[in-house]
Amino acid sequence: MKCEECYSEDSRITPLMGAKECLENHKQYICGTCGRCICLEKDPKRNLQRWNFPFKSLEIAKLYLRSAEATIKNVCRIYEIISKNGRISYKIFSTNDELVNYLKWKIKFLEK
Ligand SMILES: [Zn+2]
Ligand SMILES: [Zn+2]
Repeated sequence: MKCEECYSEDSRITPLMGAKECLENHKQYICGTCGRCICLEKDPKRNLQRWNFPFKSLEIAKLYLRSAEATIKNVCRIYEIISKNGRISYKIFSTNDELVNYLKWKIKFLEK
């Protein structure tokens, strides 16, 4: 059964990589319903959390959706982004404006 709070069926599916290191040293969002831990650690260089990065599948993005909403304190959506060469990635935003800003930044980055 899918958890209503964190949208996952498996309360132990995260962390996906380096579980021990993550649980011991990283700040976690702990689901109040199923107890699942979702990493909230900020990458010190870029000040970004895991949910800020693109995901390679919708399933993985869903696992981090709740941590985005807890951080932003608003409802978030997962957007499918298809690059010119056909590569698909998934990214979490809370507003369409954020998506547009990201795409603009991406385009600038590619033009360099
Ligand atoms: Zn972590
Ligand atoms: Zn849960």
